[in-house]
Amino acid sequence: MGIDHYQDPVCRDCSFLPICRGGCPKRRYENKYEGKQNDCCTPFKGRIEDYLELIVKKQD
Ligand code: SF4
Repeated sequence: MGIDHYQDPVCRDCSFLPICRGGCPKRRYENKYEGKQNDCCTPFKGRIEDYLELIVKKQD
């Protein structure tokens, strides 16, 4: 359908692939065929240190 994250040059260059699996396929479909601007990326992208700090704090 043209929404395969393995064919997406941005995803292919992203260190979160294949962990995030390209995000929600419906949202990717909407971006490609309905002109939407959904953020399909994992919420961890760009915030991994914040999440790790939260996990560590919860264990204290
Ligand atoms: S985090 Fe975003 S850019 Fe990276 S693989 Fe997932 S969907 Fe693609």
